[in-house]
Amino acid sequence: MSFKISCQGATSIKTFVGFLWHKLTPAISNTLWEKMAPKIAGDMRATCPAFSGNRANLEKHILLSLAENENFDDYWEYIHNPESFFRNYIQRHIERYCSEQRSNKIKTFLKISVGDIKNAILSAIHESTARAKDKSSTVSGWLDLFCDQLGDKLNFPRKDLISIEHQEIKDIEFLKETMSEALNPAMITLEQKCLSKPEEGMVSDIQNMLSEHLCGCWEQCPFCGAICTNTIPNHDGDHSVPFHRPQAISGGKWVNTDHFVIDYCTSLVASDCYFILKDGCEIPFKTYRHAGGEYATWSITPDTSTQPYWKWFVCHFRKDLEYVHRKRFRGKGKIPHAWTNITKQNVLNDLKK
Ligand SMILES: [Zn+2]
Ligand SMILES: [Zn+2]
Repeated sequence: MSFKISCQGATSIKTFVGFLWHKLTPAISNTLWEKMAPKIAGDMRATCPAFSGNRANLEKHILLSLAENENFDDYWEYIHNPESFFRNYIQRHIERYCSEQRSNKIKTFLKISVGDIKNAILSAIHESTARAKDKSSTVSGWLDLFCDQLGDKLNFPRKDLISIEHQEIKDIEFLKETMSEALNPAMITLEQKCLSKPEEGMVSDIQNMLSEHLCGCWEQCPFCGAICTNTIPNHDGDHSVPFHRPQAISGGKWVNTDHFVIDYCTSLVASDCYFILKDGCEIPFKTYRHAGGEYATWSITPDTSTQPYWKWFVCHFRKDLEYVHRKRFRGKGKIPHAWTNITKQNVLNDLKK
């Protein structure tokens, strides 16, 4: 008779533990990914030079990779949709990191996170059992203690366990043993599952974490399209950028011709040239702010120093630029001979300085 009762007790404890693990598994899986994302984001910031600084540093790496790949379509996307280009660039890097590192770093991070959670659960099992025995608690009391002990180490809501809290379990010590025995195999299965299939939302979580350090203003110079380098979105004061581009890159041409403007904004604002607004109004470059609108929000100061980068770009993609903008590098838009001597290596070295 007593053997039968004990058997029934053991069966009900095993059912109870089975249910508890059924609820614990998805909670552990979520917590594992929550712990992984900041570890991966942190490691990317520490080991990938493109992500180790602010957005201006990232842009430098983007310009390097654009020059290395020499793909005009990529340049077009960068010039015309910089924000989405940056976002895709970051996303590709996270995906590459996650697949390349799957065999080593991700494994290590996962092992550490699995170890942390395993310890948290094991100590919660032991602590809650010890206290429940002190207070001669019911199983409902044990569950309260167990969830309390897990605390913020594992997001595991007590309310999900209402359906089992009234089960009659007298042998709390046997409950502890059964829970502890199930821990190792459960964690091994979870670790393997996590390794074989990364969480879908993880890339965007990492992206958000990296973006915190890479945010900034996305306004583009109304003449050449260079992106404001202020690190604060919606910042006070004028937009500005240390290096403008030849206007031809965004399609600028001299009036009544199909000749590109190859001059930089910084030299035009010191010249006696005019530009023409959509309504036909002529504005001297020297007083470009009088054009109002976005022109009034940019600070473009006369400067003759220029980077070789866009000169090389104009020479290298001359035919593509002429084709897409239906304009020519002729007349006042003739490319200076000196520009054609700039090599890709000059450009890369200049950026890496
Ligand atoms: Zn400009
Ligand atoms: Zn700005």
